[in-house]
Amino acid sequence: MSDYQLGLEYAQSEDKADKLSSYRNQFHIPKDEAGNELIYFTGNSLGLQPKTTQSHINQELKDWAELGVEGHTEAKNPWLHYHELLTENMANIVGAKPIEVIVMNTLTANLHFMMVSFYKPTKTKYKILIEADAFPSDKFAVESQLRHHGIDEKDGLILWKPRKGSELARYDDLEAIFDLYGDQIALTLIGGINYYTGQFFDLKRIASLAHFYDSMVGFDCAHGAGNVKLNLHDSGADFAVWCTYKYLNSGPGSLAGCFVHERHAHNRELNRFTGWWSHNKEKRFDMRDEFDQLPGAEGWQLSNPPILSMAAIKASLDIFAEIGMDKLVEKSKKLTGYFEFLLNKLNNSNIKIITPSNPSERGCQLSIQVKNADKTLHKKLTKGGVISDWREPDVIRCAPVPLYNSYQDVYYMVEKLKTILND
Ligand SMILES: *Cc1c(COP(=O)(O)O)cnc(C)c1O
Repeated sequence: MSDYQLGLEYAQSEDKADKLSSYRNQFHIPKDEAGNELIYFTGNSLGLQPKTTQSHINQELKDWAELGVEGHTEAKNPWLHYHELLTENMANIVGAKPIEVIVMNTLTANLHFMMVSFYKPTKTKYKILIEADAFPSDKFAVESQLRHHGIDEKDGLILWKPRKGSELARYDDLEAIFDLYGDQIALTLIGGINYYTGQFFDLKRIASLAHFYDSMVGFDCAHGAGNVKLNLHDSGADFAVWCTYKYLNSGPGSLAGCFVHERHAHNRELNRFTGWWSHNKEKRFDMRDEFDQLPGAEGWQLSNPPILSMAAIKASLDIFAEIGMDKLVEKSKKLTGYFEFLLNKLNNSNIKIITPSNPSERGCQLSIQVKNADKTLHKKLTKGGVISDWREPDVIRCAPVPLYNSYQDVYYMVEKLKTILND
């Protein structure tokens, strides 16, 4: 994509030509005290609120007020089946079959529940392989699972580390790890997109490699869902988990997503933690029956879910369904490519983009390492109206989100950065 140009006029003309530009108006864009819209580049941390979220939640508040318990069956969207309204759209977003997807719990909780089923250590095969710079919650969850099984976490954990001088993980290093320890690795758990570098891993390649060594495979797709095409079914992964408050714009702490591959859908032998929501839907209220496992990802549910959170998810997923991931990713690649182009044109040797330059190895986020910088750089950006994310020691993470960010957002952000760096 070499036809990018410098200058504000180019950004303005691209916004005009952008068929998705009107979707920005469907979101609440945070403003500064003077009422000017901020440049919001942290959709990778907390996605913005769709304007339709409020009416979706109000509908459920109204039905609750007017119907009380009858809302379970009589609400406009009966609560008993509310999660089913989300399944197909969510499955399309992550590239899965409906039977493979469920919205439930929160991300780290889902990760634990998946490990109950898919981490089955034996005396000789008990190690868990994760990426070296995994998101802290994932690392803590994995370490606690090891301890739970009485395994020393130093012995049980294998880290896939980037080489010295680089931030990105390499597949030949992963192959070398399996070469050495393959017969001891019981579970491979990788972030689909690394939260720090923005590196989008080849899920299918990792899953095939791990499966060759009889390791179970899970992906944490918190930074991938709604950002890139994950093709979870085709990846062959055993399970995946993700949250809905980042790229899926469903509000702080909203319910999470979970994928269990179809090959496990009818396996009743698989160990799991269950509750009444994992039980046969038709007979759930015949309270005294023996447990009858629901097939598919639904069978991992425990509780009746929070409807207000699901209403927010529905509002957001409806927007994704209208656009489709193909068009979203097409714009995303162009917008992030433009961001990269402008950063490179700064010709500032203190700046290094650590995110892969190959568009198929990243989503919309660019992680910018700034030599000799400290947190004051981030403070100055914030003061200048750019909401970005600072990661110690020296990285700014910026995510131009195709749903609501514009070419002009990107243009102004880089102008601000240039001014601050030249100060
Ligand atoms: C955001 C994120 C989390 C957060 O976990 P919660 O359980 O939702 O608090 C965990 N893992 C990864 C990889 C994340 O990006």
